[in-house]
Amino acid sequence: MIYLKSNADIAIMRDNGKILTEIFKKLKNTIKAGITTKDIDTVVESIIYSRFAEPSFKGYRGFPAASCVSPNAEVVHGIPGEYVLKDGDIVGVDVGAFKNGFHVDAARTYAVGAISAEAERLVTVTRESFFKGVEQAVIGNRVSDISAAVQRYVEAAGFNVVRDMQGHGIGRSVHEDPRVPNFGMPGKGPKLRAGMVLAVEPMVSQGDFRIVTEPNGWTVVTKDGKLSAHYENTLALTDSGPEILTLDDGDMH
Ligand code: MG
Repeated sequence: MIYLKSNADIAIMRDNGKILTEIFKKLKNTIKAGITTKDIDTVVESIIYSRFAEPSFKGYRGFPAASCVSPNAEVVHGIPGEYVLKDGDIVGVDVGAFKNGFHVDAARTYAVGAISAEAERLVTVTRESFFKGVEQAVIGNRVSDISAAVQRYVEAAGFNVVRDMQGHGIGRSVHEDPRVPNFGMPGKGPKLRAGMVLAVEPMVSQGDFRIVTEPNGWTVVTKDGKLSAHYENTLALTDSGPEILTLDDGDMH
């Protein structure tokens, strides 16, 4: 069941999106060698509460933190903890916030100090693939037009999209229909309609796309141990085109 959002619903989600852009702006100046992934979560959680919102992920099926923090070979759902970031790492930070009845969800991947040219390219291609998907997020297209555009761009760059995790509708629940895979043939799945709000989130592997879940039941890592990057925004489909609710003008990271 796909729940279409009214303009008033989208206005709330737009406001909530500003909480996430504030977080990402702060993290740009916070993330550096020597801090722990838990330190990142502390920043995320304090900003969410300071805006009288709730972290969408904390307590979700028992997840213990406000954010998912996933360095290097961790794809998504990394549990913030004692890992100390070091120069050359990349680290994905995925955050959801809930306020006035609606969730928003977004992720960025940050460089820690100077990273390799290949890691930089992975992060850049992952971000750019999201915008290739957005180009297809127009009324009358179908969900898999987004998926196919992401896959095409990522694979042309020599990387792979993770198959077993995907984007999703979002609104009163953090995960709603439809599913938004990052691969597939175009022209499949539900038709895109005004009022749909989607979390589009390419997860891209430097090597093989296969993943495994660690014994903690959460942390998803690449099977081959190679790097993975993640980029996500909450996207509202409107008659005048897609509107990204979790991105501010200066935030192209
Ligand atoms: Mg998501």
